[in-house]
Amino acid sequence: MKLAEKIRRGERPFVVAGPCSAESEEQVMSICKQIAKNDSVQLLRAGIWKPRTRPNSFEGLGEIALPWLVNAGKETNLPTTTEVANKKHVEAALKAGIDVLWVGARTTVNPFAVQEIADALKGIDIPVMIKNPVNPDLNLWLGAFERFEKAGITDLAAIHRGFSVYKHPKYRNVPNWQIPIGLKEERPDLPIICDPSHITGRRDLLLEVSQKAMDLDFEGLMIETHPNPDEAWSDAAQQVTGDGLFDILSQLVMRSVEISEDLQVVLKELRTKISILDDRLFDILGARMELSEEVGQLKRENNITILQQEHWQRVIASRIEKRGEYRLTQQFVRQLMDAIHQESIRHQTKVMNTENGSNE
Ligand code: PEP
Ligand code: MN
Repeated sequence: MKLAEKIRRGERPFVVAGPCSAESEEQVMSICKQIAKNDSVQLLRAGIWKPRTRPNSFEGLGEIALPWLVNAGKETNLPTTTEVANKKHVEAALKAGIDVLWVGARTTVNPFAVQEIADALKGIDIPVMIKNPVNPDLNLWLGAFERFEKAGITDLAAIHRGFSVYKHPKYRNVPNWQIPIGLKEERPDLPIICDPSHITGRRDLLLEVSQKAMDLDFEGLMIETHPNPDEAWSDAAQQVTGDGLFDILSQLVMRSVEISEDLQVVLKELRTKISILDDRLFDILGARMELSEEVGQLKRENNITILQQEHWQRVIASRIEKRGEYRLTQQFVRQLMDAIHQESIRHQTKVMNTENGSNE
């Protein structure tokens, strides 16, 4: 059976686990044997070539470590996967007998590298998992799948590992859930595995992010595991032991997408109410834009700029201050007000630049 089908049809979550990096034969074997005790673990991972941000970090042991992972797979009767970033990696991984390849986030950003890997796999029947690019660009992610498909590689799955940001207070890579959701919309055929290890960068948040992924109906999880996480040569803060992994898996609440008929009725009622509120919301937004155009007309007549920065700062600040009354987060209020402001500017720009100021 194709890997993608196994991930989709099998019991959720489909778990990929293993160390960030292969460090020694003994380390790979011991962690793989530990995690294989749990039925959810269906694919063993280990990084052989590590695309590290800074050159003095541990960059992986390379080819010498491939047989360690392959042997751990044989010993536990589980398939294996590793990251490949160029043609040489592909050739070595295939020769060693790795079962599944994955393309890392730093590679997905580069169409030349993706094409090189896809070309190296022409005519070879092997599943490939593609991580999202480090930047939040859905098209780049989609493009990588298309490059593999054009090369005849059709057993594909997606890995969501979050997106780079500068000094985020919580995440190592922000999840931007709307991007994997966008991928689901564009490509409902592709299973999605969430990698909470690289999203969070810290083991205490793994459960929270894994749960969120399950609630968004992702099919799988990729979680880095290590016999002695604090001593790991890479990504120490985010790795967990085998028991740590089982602990997370046992606490996950799995919810179904199937809805019973009774529940359908209740849900329908609530959704109708929501839809009435949405109607009102849009009526109000329409009315707001009409007023905004009147303001635009005045600005035009008096030759003043559309953007009145200080006024807008005051509007936002007062909304944010009141957000508690509506039980909305600061981030949501900010994004909503920014969206409204942009639309309002668009309306006023139209008024400014039409012949007599009227928008008709
Ligand atoms: C990894 O999985 O160890 C890795 C390097 O991930 P990413 O490509 O998501 O940074
Ligand atoms: Mn890692």
